[in-house]
Amino acid sequence: EAPIVSNFIRSTIESDLASGKHASIQTRFPPEPNGYLHVGHAKSICLNFGVAQDYQGLCNLRMDDTNPEKENEEFAQAIASDVKWLGFEWAGEIRHAADYFDQLYAYAEELILAGKAFVCELDAEQMREYRGNFEVPGKNSPFRDRSVEENLDLFRRMKAGEFADGSKTLRLKIDMAAPNLNLRDPVIYRIKRAHHIRTGDKWCIYPMYDYTHCISDALEGITHSLCTLEFADHRPLYDWVLDNITIDCHPQQIEFSRLELLYTMTSKRKLAALVNEGLVSGWDDPRMPTVIGMRRRGYTPEGIKLFAQRVGVSKSENVVDLSILEGAVREQLESSCPRIMAVVRPLKVTLTNYEEGVTASRTAPYHPQHPEFGERNVPIAREIWVEQDDFAEVPPAGWQRLTLGSEVRLRYSYVMKCDEVVKDAAGNVIELKCSLDMATLGQNPVGRKVKGVIHWLSAEHAVPAEVRLYDRLFTEARPDAVRGADGEYLDFRQFINPESLEVVTAYVEAVAGGLAPETRYQFERLGYFVTDRKDHVAGEKIVFNRAVTLKDTWKS
Ligand code: ATP
Ligand code: MG
Ligand code: MG
Repeated sequence: EAPIVSNFIRSTIESDLASGKHASIQTRFPPEPNGYLHVGHAKSICLNFGVAQDYQGLCNLRMDDTNPEKENEEFAQAIASDVKWLGFEWAGEIRHAADYFDQLYAYAEELILAGKAFVCELDAEQMREYRGNFEVPGKNSPFRDRSVEENLDLFRRMKAGEFADGSKTLRLKIDMAAPNLNLRDPVIYRIKRAHHIRTGDKWCIYPMYDYTHCISDALEGITHSLCTLEFADHRPLYDWVLDNITIDCHPQQIEFSRLELLYTMTSKRKLAALVNEGLVSGWDDPRMPTVIGMRRRGYTPEGIKLFAQRVGVSKSENVVDLSILEGAVREQLESSCPRIMAVVRPLKVTLTNYEEGVTASRTAPYHPQHPEFGERNVPIAREIWVEQDDFAEVPPAGWQRLTLGSEVRLRYSYVMKCDEVVKDAAGNVIELKCSLDMATLGQNPVGRKVKGVIHWLSAEHAVPAEVRLYDRLFTEARPDAVRGADGEYLDFRQFINPESLEVVTAYVEAVAGGLAPETRYQFERLGYFVTDRKDHVAGEKIVFNRAVTLKDTWKS
């Protein structure tokens, strides 16, 4: 477990607990079920559930479902499953903003009765005009001074379905000259005949986000409502609503900066475009920064949590290179994954001094520092596979691996010398003929040093596997913020890394034949791999995804 790093939100919580302002804390994570969760949401989840855990409080999971047209049940279920997978438990049942529609409606009537809300008939265009901007104060709507009775009657008729979609709104009566545009008589209800995943066709008016969010928080007894910085300007409205209705809870909204991860995108809308246009295989494509994509890629919840700790919580810009995420994942896998050998680009080697039909094996530990992971047999026979990259016809200076006449140590086995290079008609190297020094099993050769150690597999014992080698999805750090010569933003689609997926047929140690989906291994010298949770079937089709390489080799 990584140590807890303090931050300004934790300090606030600690002083609120110390002063007795709150006896215990209650947070919430409020996603809109209009897409799958991404790594930015994961940061928010780790923060909200993490502080609740650390201060013996509770965290709710609330579907912020006030846009019936964009939301669906598939997304809602995926969100719940992602939160669980990350290892967090929400308090009680899953909540929904829609659970509060009756109460939200009652508060709206209360506001009307207090003369603090009115039914407006300006259309969207007029509304913009009347609203003004940062330099120009807004103008009062001509409908602002209707009587309470008229407002109440019209609002009830809006609810009853007497008016066309978009023809009327309910607005708060705050201040059209307020420097903060959010306070210029914001709309809190609109007419929209849309089927809702939870309330069906019961409602034809729906509350707006700002109005819904603060009341939902208060109804749930949230103590600290954590959100991203773009909501700082909405805080006065959050507070205004709660100050002007009869409710005995007033959560404190605290903003932190949004995570921006380079070489990927964290916008649900743009991620949805990648999915809908078939540019990736789905929301769970292992190249996607979605929680479900990272899961399929082989990342662990612990690795993602470690990452969230490292990126921290603050109000300053939170732009983070992808290597920070990969580094946290790698670090966590390092000590938790057993290690085996695999050859992803196989080159055949015949051991000319090893008798045909004979097999010998040595045992080797699954992890050098973790004897409790156990050990397995590493068999050797006359034909073995080595990695194409471990042979060079014309080796660079300092080369310690295979070339004609050189010696290497086969990991956990003998020292082997390359005696002959076999080529096909086109001049490609297709086989090496090598010999073993039979006196070198577990011993250094006499009179010379062999520095290079390579991984390898006995051809008859290894199992074939489909291995998917993933790399970064984009070649640009900010694929959605690249401008062309004319200053216009370029389409992020053109920056998709054409080498972000390579599929190879590899060989893996025999243990790979019987693994359950989502089993992780280090392939020695190659990286961390996971059996694919969808396509891998033990004994039938072996499929591994590369989660991350052993070192950060990516050049930007
Ligand atoms: P998107 O722009 O991708 O649609 P969103 O903020 O609209 O994201 P929500 O479902 O409303 O998505 O987000 C749920 C919670 O996750 C919110 O509290 C939001 O502030 C937080 N969140 C979303 N994106 C990030 C991010 N990049 N970094 C940190 N927190 C985030
Ligand atoms: Mg949102
Ligand atoms: Mg959004």
